[in-house]
Amino acid sequence: MSTTRTEPEAVAVIGAGPAGIATALALHAVGIPVKLYERYAEPSPAGNIVNLWPPAVQALEHIGVDVEDIGAFCETEFRNSRDKVRARVKFPQSVVDKYGNGGFIGLTRPDLYERMVDALPPGIFVGNKQVAGLEDEGDHVVVRFQDDTSITTPLVVGADGINSVVRETVWGLPPIREHNLHVIGGFTFDLPAAVNPREAILRHSRTVQASHTGIRSKGRDGAEWWVLQAWDPQNPAPVDLKAHALFLAKEFPPEVAELIANTSEEHIFRWPIRDRGDVPKVWSKGRVTFAGDAVHATSPYAAYGAGMSIVDGYFLGQTLNGVDLGDSAALKKTLARYEELRVEHTAAQVKQAYMLGRNFHHVPTLMRPLRDAIFDHTKFLQKMVGDSNPAEISAQLDIMGSDLHTPAAVARAAR
Ligand SMILES: Cc1cc2nc3c(=O)[nH]c(=O)nc-3n(C[C@H](O)[C@H](O)[C@H](O)COP(=O)(O)OP(=O)(O)OC[C@H]3O[C@@H](n4cnc5c(N)ncnc54)[C@H](O)[C@@H]3O)c2cc1C
Repeated sequence: MSTTRTEPEAVAVIGAGPAGIATALALHAVGIPVKLYERYAEPSPAGNIVNLWPPAVQALEHIGVDVEDIGAFCETEFRNSRDKVRARVKFPQSVVDKYGNGGFIGLTRPDLYERMVDALPPGIFVGNKQVAGLEDEGDHVVVRFQDDTSITTPLVVGADGINSVVRETVWGLPPIREHNLHVIGGFTFDLPAAVNPREAILRHSRTVQASHTGIRSKGRDGAEWWVLQAWDPQNPAPVDLKAHALFLAKEFPPEVAELIANTSEEHIFRWPIRDRGDVPKVWSKGRVTFAGDAVHATSPYAAYGAGMSIVDGYFLGQTLNGVDLGDSAALKKTLARYEELRVEHTAAQVKQAYMLGRNFHHVPTLMRPLRDAIFDHTKFLQKMVGDSNPAEISAQLDIMGSDLHTPAAVARAAR
């Protein structure tokens, strides 16, 4: 095996998804040498659709990504399948001032990757490097790759997703938690007249979610849609995803089916929904820490897993800025500070996303009418998804501070 000492002692970020690319960009922005190792030849988006909340867009902006016209800023409502509004997502005035009412931002995943990769300076990304394991030697870490090469680094950031080899090596991986749900989604630029590309409408029937939000892609308006239902992960996937999505859309207003019908098969994907249970309270060990799904895999019910991953990267840049990576005590303190900024928020979001999936799809049959009466006729849903969750997410904007070079105030860190 050949071992390369990275020059000059670059941080090794493992995995070029949203977490890894954001981390590499943030570290580079504060002058920390960094290499981004990815198992594939190029960063490749897993899927097609994505929405971002404002903290992710602010983080992207501060780490050097072009956010001009990045997506459709959508006003967002939760409705029942007969279009009765149950909740409106409300943002604080400061967010409205910057993003308009639409703080839920729709785009395509390939566009997000393209913008992030475009911001990466040459020489940082290293493709075809699948991590096999690592050893923390105290004053440095040796990272081993499948191709029998290795590198040394003062710090590893495991951003290698839900099946993180880095986490498995350092902490052991908790079991997958199946949510017993699956989601089928796609996007189209062929919009039915009833679809407003500046709106996100999240509708639920007794058992199915059928939603759509506006997207912007290279200056074009479009919409993404998804249908979500309970599904035993042991069961095979539906053979014809489009036909299955159209079947699920039957109990919803006709524009949902029209969007699905207008979507070409190549833009339709399906995912089983799963995570790894509760987010751990401690992420870092020695000279290894984590970002993204590797440490807080999140149900798409939050529409925030990629967003939180990007913000992790931002905070790694902000907290590591100016730290002597050779000083183990200083590094330990810095990583504790990073966790202080991230653990509580990500843990709450992972839990809430899991519970939303349970409440909408796994309530016993006899209880569903009661649940829906509460959602239709009380302020319960408004308080949860319309008021408190957007407030919690928007509060991140203050915690993030004015930029990467200005540390977040300690007093504002823990909420
Ligand atoms: C259907 C669906 C819809 C979603 N919608 C949204 C949404 O609207 N908004 C949102 O914010 N989030 C959403 N998410 C969540 C979001 O996709 C994830 O949270 C996000 O991709 C996590 O980013 P990551 O970089 O941590 O991990 P990943 O995206 O999984 O990237 C990990 C990277 O590591 C690489 N890798 C893995 N193992 C190794 C190894 N051993 N060596 C080297 N490289 C390795 C992989 O190839 C990959 O490039 C959704 C998820 C799903 C399934």
